[in-house]
This record gives sequence, C-alpha cells and structure tokens, in this order.
Amino acid sequence: MIVYDLCCQNAACARAANQTGGFRFEGWFSSSDDFLRQQERGLVSCPACGSVDVIKAPMAPAVPKKGNQLPAAAQPTAMAGGKLPPEAVEMLQALAKAQAEALQQSRWVGADFAEQSRAMFYGEREAEVIHGQASLQEARELLEEGVPVMPLPFPVVPPEQAN
Ligand SMILES: [Zn+2]
Repeated sequence: MIVYDLCCQNAACARAANQTGGFRFEGWFSSSDDFLRQQERGLVSCPACGSVDVIKAPMAPAVPKKGNQLPAAAQPTAMAGGKLPPEAVEMLQALAKAQAEALQQSRWVGADFAEQSRAMFYGEREAEVIHGQASLQEARELLEEGVPVMPLPFPVVPPEQAN
C-alpha cells in the first residue's frame, strides 16, 4: 500500500478550496502501477469536485496541512465482487424482466437457431421471432451475412432442461 499526494488540476476547485496550485488530497494505492492504471482509466477523481484531472503532486516544500483539509482518499470504482449498487441491481432486474417478456413472444428453436434465422433472412421460410443457441462462430457468420441477430443479455435455460 502506498499513499500519494495528489493534486486536482481543476482551477475552480483550487479556488474554492483556497489552495494555490490545485486542491491536494491523499490517494491510497496498492502500488505505483495501480495508481497509473487507475489514473489512465479515469478512476482517480478529486474528492472535492469529482474531476479526474488529477496529477501526482510535486514534492511539496513543506506545505502546512490545513485543518479544513478533507481526509478523503481517491475512490477507485469497480463492479466486481461484493455488493452491487442498488441502481445496478434494479437495472439488471428490469433487463431480465424485459428479456423474459420478449421471449414470451418468441419461439425456442434450440440448436436450429443459425439455420432457421438464415432461412428467414433469405425468405426460405415464414418470418417469426425465434431464440435459440448459437455458437460464437455461428453468430459471427450470421452477422457477417447481415442476418439480424443479437445476443441475449442473460442465459436462457433450454425448455427441455427446465424441469
Ligand atoms: Zn477538485
């Protein structure tokens, strides 16, 4: 774990904090590489104004710590493991519901998906909405041919396996 003195480059923020040369704060990182990675991806943000225009502060010639300085660390953001934010859960649930509703209007064709969607595209059979299984390779071929297919956001249990 290393602690960096960081410096927000937002001029308005520096003025608001009454600090010349940018608002300073501390960021905690597991390594210097970790800092660079997070900075590159815009994950290092100023706790005062939220700007990601943040640099490692130049070695300060004894800047006295002010009493009103925020003891905040830069907050890395990610969505792996732990608890998802409630908005994300809500959004995923809505998406899952939308998929379930869409699938009610759609017929499961299982492994015949590529063949049947191609047949519809070329007018060899009547058009309807279908869903089924396609390998990555099949999906790629369909898209290259211009067949309008799209991946479902959630995996679908084949009806024959549902019980
Ligand atoms: Zn700032």
